[in-house]
Amino acid sequence: MPFFTRRDRKKISYDISDELLDIYASLIFQAKKILPPNIEIQCRFSGGEPLALNDKLFRFSERIYNVTRIKPYILTNGTKIDQDFIDSARKNHINFLAVSLENPLNPSTGAPHPKEIINKITRYNSSNFPIIPGVTIVRNEDFKNLYSMCRIFYKKLKVLPTINELSFQAFIPPTKKQLKDLYENIFKIVSFFYLKTPIRLFPYISPELCYGGLKHYIIELDLENKHHLTKNNLDKGLFKVLNQLNISYPKLNCEDYNCEWHNECERIKWVWHASFEKANAEKRLKSYCEMKKTINNSFFEALKSFK
Ligand code: SF4
Repeated sequence: MPFFTRRDRKKISYDISDELLDIYASLIFQAKKILPPNIEIQCRFSGGEPLALNDKLFRFSERIYNVTRIKPYILTNGTKIDQDFIDSARKNHINFLAVSLENPLNPSTGAPHPKEIINKITRYNSSNFPIIPGVTIVRNEDFKNLYSMCRIFYKKLKVLPTINELSFQAFIPPTKKQLKDLYENIFKIVSFFYLKTPIRLFPYISPELCYGGLKHYIIELDLENKHHLTKNNLDKGLFKVLNQLNISYPKLNCEDYNCEWHNECERIKWVWHASFEKANAEKRLKSYCEMKKTINNSFFEALKSFK
């Protein structure tokens, strides 16, 4: 469960009160008690840059662990990783780090350089404290280079990051040429990397390909306490928080019952139903459909080509 950022209109705030942290820890503990044992609950610190909190982060991980017995993991941009941090993280019940990486063939201006972050991963990753590649966000213009990008990551890390689409306000519908590039590159990625290393592609479009066929949902417990939880309303609060999944993953109700991806499209992330400045809901849903077919068809055609 991610919880970790608050952006108000004036500034980015990182802190969380002890009271709210304890409420969230108790909520996670209750969820663990009532959900069936085949549902795994993970706890993630993410959003903004959690490592900017320095030692305070460990106070939070300690509290979460003491109440829930779940070791949180951190999604980070990796710039602040050093030996002191690793030593403290291990002592303070951090499970592992997932480090976001820029596309080395087209890094964003001002973002941490992927070469520097890859070096940190290779230097500090260990079986005692895993540091794994997290997500690499790609733009439509990157689709033509996805395979080359993956070869670079694999050469250095022997694993691949999760390749993530731009899905919120920055999403622009891909052109026909970009969809063709996407198809060809996924085909090459699957043909080369299948059985060498896990392949995780476009989790907001094809989560079924990312998480080994398992369902995977994210609930945000943010610094603004958007669920209005208090220590006195946790029973009802937990129900409300779990019910948030219906809002975050609404039904699509696609009428193309002959589509082979119909089951996989039963519920999709809310971002595809929403209108943003660069594309309204209608265009986003159309792109979702085109990309879903492109990604899944390419993935399974590549698998079928194995003898
Ligand atoms: S891929 Fe497109 S046509 Fe197929 S079920 Fe999903 S939304 Fe409908």
